[in-house]
Amino acid sequence: MVPSKAAKPLQVLLVDDNPIQLSLLHHLFQRHGHTTLEAKNGAEALIVLATENPDVVVSDCVMPLLDGYQLCRLLKDDRATRHLPVLLLTAQGAGLARFWAKTCGADRFLVKGRDLDHVVEVAASLVDPTGKPRPHGRPRLAQENFGVDAIQRRLAQALEQRVVETALRDSIGRLYTAEHDTLRLIRGFIEILQELVLPGALLVAYTGEDGMICHGVHGSSLGEKDRAALEAGVQKFIPPGSPGLCHWHPAGDDEDRRRAMRDPVLRVMPAVTPGYPTVGILGFLAERRAVDEYERLFEIAAEELGRLLSLEDSRLRLYHQAIRDPLTGLYNRRHLLDMLDMEIDQCGRFGHSLSLMLIDLDHFKAVNDRFGHAAGDHVLSVMAQRMAFGLRKVDQVGRIGGEEFLAYGPETDLDGLRALAERLRQQVAIEPIPGLPEADRVTLSIGLAAWEGPGDTLERMMARADKNLYQAKAEGRNRVIG
Ligand code: GH3
Ligand code: MG
Ligand code: MG
Repeated sequence: MVPSKAAKPLQVLLVDDNPIQLSLLHHLFQRHGHTTLEAKNGAEALIVLATENPDVVVSDCVMPLLDGYQLCRLLKDDRATRHLPVLLLTAQGAGLARFWAKTCGADRFLVKGRDLDHVVEVAASLVDPTGKPRPHGRPRLAQENFGVDAIQRRLAQALEQRVVETALRDSIGRLYTAEHDTLRLIRGFIEILQELVLPGALLVAYTGEDGMICHGVHGSSLGEKDRAALEAGVQKFIPPGSPGLCHWHPAGDDEDRRRAMRDPVLRVMPAVTPGYPTVGILGFLAERRAVDEYERLFEIAAEELGRLLSLEDSRLRLYHQAIRDPLTGLYNRRHLLDMLDMEIDQCGRFGHSLSLMLIDLDHFKAVNDRFGHAAGDHVLSVMAQRMAFGLRKVDQVGRIGGEEFLAYGPETDLDGLRALAERLRQQVAIEPIPGLPEADRVTLSIGLAAWEGPGDTLERMMARADKNLYQAKAEGRNRVIG
């Protein structure tokens, strides 16, 4: 095959202990106009990489001294060579070998004998076509790193690093299974990560119900100015108009955390999950030494935070959908009755009082008949807002049927609730409804019931309220009975 003119000639490092295979690969690449460097095993490949700067590595897996997976781990573990693409050639049918090829960080793997026709094409596809100067341009592997002992030491370090990374991912991931409260998740995350930044500071911003919220921890040597700098760094990523309120707390007081910071570096990383809008930001102020040493861990932490927050976001959305009525945004029947059941349980234990009101819109069918169903829907949501607004913060209200609502007041007796219901009825009846003729009003009939002590149940209370509501309707509507 004639090399395509457009393809840039590459320098390829071939690694294989089998001379026949090595020469076969050499010819394949050469035929396409690429040049090759060759090594008989992973250890030799490392020596080549100390002085040469190839575009891509194509390596066999099973080799003496240092095999393909180990070579790949070492390359991906080293900042100087992390971005150098690695293509592994695995033996046919070796399931575990292919599993390792995937987990050691190789960019691709091909099965020898089956896919070898594509090896040149695939290797070339791994090379960044823009030909940007690569970060691994500077060989940094020193000569003393190449003895068997040195290689084993580096391998042990790379594996250790892998274990730490896995443990970090694991402990952050576990938070999600343990906590179902966003703030506790964030606190748990900060708790895990804080040792890496202290005596500096760590700030996590995430989207809460009312916009961005930031939570942070700081060493005690850190002044307000440093914290403000970190806040400002994080704020740059927050959509304008978001309040971005910051809650700081000092880290536990031990000697090391009180120590003054040397050579501080500020970093901000968005916590993103592919295919999901940005849900969080990780910012930290730490000593340069820590930032360099833990660079990969911070990347992983930001990644895991993104995952955690997007899961949490989905969970909250689902929860919101499960407990709310979509038309009015009020709690739905099931959720309100569940809450009320728990409240009644509390009354039984602690002897609190509790009252509820059943609210039904008067002649609502006529609204639909005169103005159409869409206008009826609009009236329902306006009325729902008025009810939510007209009640106290401690009261709960939900839509339990078409134009029926239920509200309850904890620690409220019948007289208290009657006053509240009367006020609500009057407010609602006075206000005109936007979109409806000025003269038209929608009124409420309300039936009340109070908890009557141990032995009383939700069903009985509802039955009493319903009877009172029926009476309110019978007596001419627009009134409170109970
Ligand atoms: P009453 O004063 O006796 O309560 O009379 P009413 O017309 O309010 O009561 P009725 O139970 O006869 O009719 C309730 C009406 O509410 C019938 C139904 O079309 C309407 N409705 C129920 N749910 C919805 C809804 O989600 N949207 C709209 N637009 N109308 C609804
Ligand atoms: Mg009605
Ligand atoms: Mg009704």
